[in-house]
Amino acid sequence: MPTSRPDRAFAVFGGTFDPIHMAHLACAQYVLKHCAVREVQLMPCHLPAHRASPGVSAEHRAAMVQIAIEHIPGVHLQSLELNKHSPSYTVDSLRLLREQYPRGGLLFVMGMDSLAYFKQWHQWQNILQLAHLVVCQRPGSSAEDGDCPSLLQHYGTNSLQDLHLLDAGKIMLLDNPPQDLSATRIRALLEKNQQSDELTPLIPAEVLQYIKTERLYSGI
Ligand code: ATP
Repeated sequence: MPTSRPDRAFAVFGGTFDPIHMAHLACAQYVLKHCAVREVQLMPCHLPAHRASPGVSAEHRAAMVQIAIEHIPGVHLQSLELNKHSPSYTVDSLRLLREQYPRGGLLFVMGMDSLAYFKQWHQWQNILQLAHLVVCQRPGSSAEDGDCPSLLQHYGTNSLQDLHLLDAGKIMLLDNPPQDLSATRIRALLEKNQQSDELTPLIPAEVLQYIKTERLYSGI
């Protein structure tokens, strides 16, 4: 693969994961397969900085991530945001990761909907000094939306080499098969009926079992 550097790149996929679903897992596996990284770390936030607070605790959301990735080699839980009691700013987490891994490409994974408002993220320019962004296709969002065109004009690349030869600063759009799925839709289904057959293809069976056992999202 393209890297001639001793430290192989790794990827971090931040999110609320409220709950984790099949599209998150598909994105993580796509990055693992197509971006030549040694691992993908799923990093649940404690309190998201960019949206309303999740209904389910960070501990439960992290437990669901752990259950979902248990049998997926190369995908791991990154727990550094879990013990924070203030909003999780991606820039702070990436700084901490850079202290641990000072050299090598660091890829921050997000969906196209997130790139569209990336310039509203806290210290977004500093994020690009710490990491590359790799952006997954998501139905309902396109590279024409919001901040995407200007960001891609300045930072865009189609070269995987860039992500490995440089430590940070590039944005690459991925060609993953889009999956029309959101945690919002899953929460709505769960609130209505936890036995719904509709849920089966959307969320790993073990995670659904955990949700039922812990009585999450049911309003009980
Ligand atoms: P919610 O519906 O509660 O907002 P979500 O499904 O968007 O949740 P998050 O945990 O908020 O999930 O998202 C974490 C990251 O995963 C974000 O960068 C988001 O863009 C991305 N993501 C979520 N769902 C998809 C999807 N179906 N396709 C591509 N990216 C996705």
